[in-house]
Amino acid sequence: MHRDMMPSFELLQPAKLVDALSLLDRRGKDIWKMAGGNDSLDWFKDRVKRPKAVMDLGGIAELKGIRETADGIEIGALTTLAEIANSPVIQSKFKVLAEAAGRVASPQIRNVSTIGGNVSQDARCWYYRSGLNCYRAGGNTCFADTPAGMNREHAIFDASRCIAVSPSDTAPALLVLEAKMVIKTAKAERVVDAEKYFVGPALDITHMTILKPEELLVAIRIPSKWAGAKFYFEKVADRNTWDFALVNVASALKVTNGTIEAARVACGGVACTPRFIKVVEEVVKGGKQDEETAALAGQSAVHGARPVNYNQFKVPLMENLVKRAIRDAA
Ligand SMILES: Cc1cc2nc3c(=O)[nH]c(=O)nc-3n(C[C@H](O)[C@H](O)[C@H](O)COP(=O)(O)OP(=O)(O)OC[C@H]3O[C@@H](n4cnc5c(N)ncnc54)[C@H](O)[C@@H]3O)c2cc1C
Ligand code: SF4
Repeated sequence: MHRDMMPSFELLQPAKLVDALSLLDRRGKDIWKMAGGNDSLDWFKDRVKRPKAVMDLGGIAELKGIRETADGIEIGALTTLAEIANSPVIQSKFKVLAEAAGRVASPQIRNVSTIGGNVSQDARCWYYRSGLNCYRAGGNTCFADTPAGMNREHAIFDASRCIAVSPSDTAPALLVLEAKMVIKTAKAERVVDAEKYFVGPALDITHMTILKPEELLVAIRIPSKWAGAKFYFEKVADRNTWDFALVNVASALKVTNGTIEAARVACGGVACTPRFIKVVEEVVKGGKQDEETAALAGQSAVHGARPVNYNQFKVPLMENLVKRAIRDAA
């Protein structure tokens, strides 16, 4: 691994969104978008990805900050995770997102990492990050999905040739809050449900999101629908300092007199996309927020899991996290 010097690239530093979009419109295929750089710079330093041009989005003020809107909040894609974790409005209305952002990596990384980068980051599979020519890198094999492969961190659902997982801690929180992703090109805007932002390998094995080269994620909208609900976030990692989740869970519950009227639960680290667990919504609706309902939710959440050699522990781990996400949401 050559960590001495990055290969050279053309550096683009637009100060306005309109200029960034115009550059992407003309030269999108050659441009790597860079926000905080915490994922990007690793790729460049390891010389695994060698873009012709890098667009540093850091100077675009329009993409930063948290705004209250008529129906909820809008978070600029370049807002840092630290700002989200410490935001009074997010802490009071959408605590699950503040907690998830606050559990990413370390304080130093959260100070520069952005929410846009967190949901658009690439897979962390060791083989792929090392520059091996696996399916995700355009090759014709998966090094992790072999009897002796290092697949402890990998998927237990929805694998399709690639078994890497979605590593984002904020993505499950955004899914339960029914967030919308605002995507722009020089010519148009589209708004997609957070769930549809992420793509699995069956659809596109070389990308983790639906973004096209000419598109930029500009903001994330969170509707007020779940404001003030009961929430839960938990992340289990090998180390309690900076580390990626083995499994994480986020939930939002509406409970009246102890009865669950509505619930949303999502997990990261278990599939190539953050996994919204629809069946839990149906299993817990109308039930009491208690041990029994929570146990049923956990069991149903892992139904159909297909672990590989070294990640079988993820099945009971996910079951217990979902159980706690129902029982202990507050
Ligand atoms: C040591 C270390 C520990 C980490 N631990 C965690 C962890 O515990 N949990 C976790 O979730 N993540 C973790 N990460 C991963 C990741 O770096 C951070 O989550 C971070 O949020 C990435 O944000 P960034 O702005 O620095 O991303 P960048 O590196 O700037 O971007 C990441 C990717 O997103 C794309 N992108 C960025 N912004 C946009 C945009 N607005 N529109 C379109 N595409 C965009 C870039 O092109 C790039 O592909 C860790 C990273 C490191 C280096
Ligand atoms: S799990 Fe995916 S990223 Fe990892 S080696 Fe296999 S194909 Fe490549």
